[in-house]
Amino acid sequence: MPHPLGDELTELHVHLGGAVDPAAMWGIAHSQGIRLPTKDYWEFVELITVHPKRRKSFEDFLELYHWTELIQSSPIAVEQAVYEVIGGAYRKANITTLELRYNPLKRNRGGERDVDHIIMASIRGLDRAALEYPVKVGLIFCLDRTFGRELNEIVVDKAIQYRKRGVVGIDIAGPHDNEFRYSDYAALYKRARKAGLGLTVHAGEDEDWHSVDEVVRHLEPDRIGHGIHAAQDAGLCKRLAERGIHLEICPSSNLDTKVVRDLDELQELIAVFRKHKVHFSFNTDGPEMLQTTLRDELKLAVRANLVSRDELEQCGQWALEASFLQPGAA
Ligand SMILES: [Zn+2]
Repeated sequence: MPHPLGDELTELHVHLGGAVDPAAMWGIAHSQGIRLPTKDYWEFVELITVHPKRRKSFEDFLELYHWTELIQSSPIAVEQAVYEVIGGAYRKANITTLELRYNPLKRNRGGERDVDHIIMASIRGLDRAALEYPVKVGLIFCLDRTFGRELNEIVVDKAIQYRKRGVVGIDIAGPHDNEFRYSDYAALYKRARKAGLGLTVHAGEDEDWHSVDEVVRHLEPDRIGHGIHAAQDAGLCKRLAERGIHLEICPSSNLDTKVVRDLDELQELIAVFRKHKVHFSFNTDGPEMLQTTLRDELKLAVRANLVSRDELEQCGQWALEASFLQPGAA
């Protein structure tokens, strides 16, 4: 029987910490006996979600991950979380190609849990979901801007170690840190590429176009997470197009975290990408945390004139082509 929602979709940019249904998170927290700051379910929902009517600052938004990451910090919790996200994405949006990202070193309670147990649990969640739904799924491991090089190197080592088990790429995410320089990660990114991993990196989200420029120069990624502010520089857009670097655009996320002022500004920025023929696709970033679905994001994109219907179809094709799950990719 065909899926009631129609076309199959691809999503490239989803964080595990923002993608699990609050009811499932509540269940996982309770089954592990985690002491939450509230005993009220609706207060808990408020604690781990953003709503367009009560947008949070970019820093407040990243703070939401504190609770979701803590709740997901055990093998059983990670397995269940990964399993829930993939099934939910298929049921709610007919997403059949999905890349799910998380930082395994933010799921082991500062070293209290063994990181290999955490990773194997996430792979079990992936495998279980793939048994139940017709989906192609892979994991992306996130390095963190607040981690030192040594910790981030462990994330890359683990991604390489588990490459044949479902890990398809690496990313850099997390809050701004004064010590952090993208250029410090050139050698590690090169090593990951050589090992066959796909490369993406958050840039140009709360930062301006220079961050995207730096990333392109030093890390040579296949894709960029957000990258929305790359539109501030025409020369950079031309290089993105020439090199075929794909932007993982997340409309509601950018609006809800206020890194983009409003839909008009978002439309202006995306118009620049269209003009320079930069490849991009639409993503949720974290559908449950932002209370959206990929289908809602696509509807918004057309309704707000970010793209035409034909262009939207093209974006879907680009997303599929840019997926690290494609045979022959990365
Ligand atoms: Zn993100």
